[in-house]
Amino acid sequence: MAIRELCHLPNDLVLRQKARRVSTINGSIQQLIDDMVETMQQADGVGLAAPQVGVPLRVIVLRMLGEEPIAIINPEIVKRVGEREVTEACLSIPGYAGEIKRSVSVTVKGRNRQGKAIRIKATGRMAQTLEHELDHLNGILYIDHVESRDKLYKVEAETETRGM
Ligand code: ZN
Repeated sequence: MAIRELCHLPNDLVLRQKARRVSTINGSIQQLIDDMVETMQQADGVGLAAPQVGVPLRVIVLRMLGEEPIAIINPEIVKRVGEREVTEACLSIPGYAGEIKRSVSVTVKGRNRQGKAIRIKATGRMAQTLEHELDHLNGILYIDHVESRDKLYKVEAETETRGM
C-alpha cells in the first residue's frame, strides 16, 4: 500500500471531471483501493473518491467509526429518503466547512473489492459520506450545494469537521 497525493481545489481539474466506470476489477483497481484506504486514514478522513487522488474512475472508500473500511466500485444511489441539515468538509478543500442539506438515508449498489455485487442501506453520517463521495464521481463538490455565502466558513485545523 502507498499513500497517494491528495488533489485540491482550485488547481486539480480532475475534481471537476465526471469519472469513468470501471470495466474490469483487476489487481490495479485493488491496488488503487488499498492506496485510497491508506490515504484516507493518513488524512483522518471518513471517505475518499478516486478523483481525489487524481484517478478519474468510479471508485470510493469510506470508514465508519469502529468498522472495517468499505470500498465500492461503480456505486449508484438507488434510493434517497428525507432531508437534513449537516456540516460538511472535504479533504480536497482544506480549511473550510459548510452547512448543506443531505438525505437522511440512502441505498447504494455497486461492487466490492472482489467484484461481488453489493447493496448498502445507510443512514445519518454514513449516508452523508456516500452522497459526498458519489458527488465526487460526477465532478460535484459540497460547496456547490451551499445555498448562501454565510453557510461556508473557514475552520481551524483542530476544530475541523472530518473531511471526505
Ligand atoms: Zn470530498
